[in-house]
Amino acid sequence: MRVPALILAAMVATTTANAADCGPDKLNTSRTITLKREGAAYGTNQHSALPLKKGEVVLTFDDGPSPEYTPMVLKALSDQCAKATFFMIGQHIAQQPDLARRVVSEGHSAGIHSNTHPHMAALSADQQLNDLQLSRAAYKTVFGVETPAYRFPFLEETPTLLKALKDANITVASIDLAINDWIPEDTTAILAQRLNDSLDKAGSGIILMHDANGPTAKALPALLKVLKDKGYNIVHLEWQ
Ligand SMILES: [Zn+2]
Repeated sequence: MRVPALILAAMVATTTANAADCGPDKLNTSRTITLKREGAAYGTNQHSALPLKKGEVVLTFDDGPSPEYTPMVLKALSDQCAKATFFMIGQHIAQQPDLARRVVSEGHSAGIHSNTHPHMAALSADQQLNDLQLSRAAYKTVFGVETPAYRFPFLEETPTLLKALKDANITVASIDLAINDWIPEDTTAILAQRLNDSLDKAGSGIILMHDANGPTAKALPALLKVLKDKGYNIVHLEWQ
């Protein structure tokens, strides 16, 4: 089949423009780690480290999708050609299915972060398992596949859910470093300083941020610049 020259020229131009947009002046994504669907657990806050080299970080965002702030986060990531993993709350997935799918369609990966963000340790075993079941169902309804990964609300793990996740071959994703981004008054300068200090302490690892937090969404271009200026490399997580 012959492709009309004008269309061909437009296709070539688009490809070239994208490649140029993700040049060395951008943060970019240096490599992807594809994890098996098995009941592993990562993040030195509670578990073993991912196989990362010094200077490699994984970007993760919790508590979305948020109609106000997740699009800002997606824009900032896209502007820097950086890929991240979003740990979404089941109820938010159900409320914002198109936005949830947009996150993944833009090349990011997604896991779940409970259904209603409870303090799991305060719930009975049945209540914990029910919350997990509801969040897995919300994910499957919207994405058509089982969630590959789970992050505990408040990083508060319970034996009941650790066993259930292992039995379901769902990766437990803890963290290595954070920027404590839940204070509404946080400025971009404060968050950038916290990221800078956390990076100096940890040197590599899984970074916890919150795409549902306004100050984080506003600060993200500056936070990505901190990573770029300090020479960090972004590693993207995917699952088989
Ligand atoms: Zn959370």
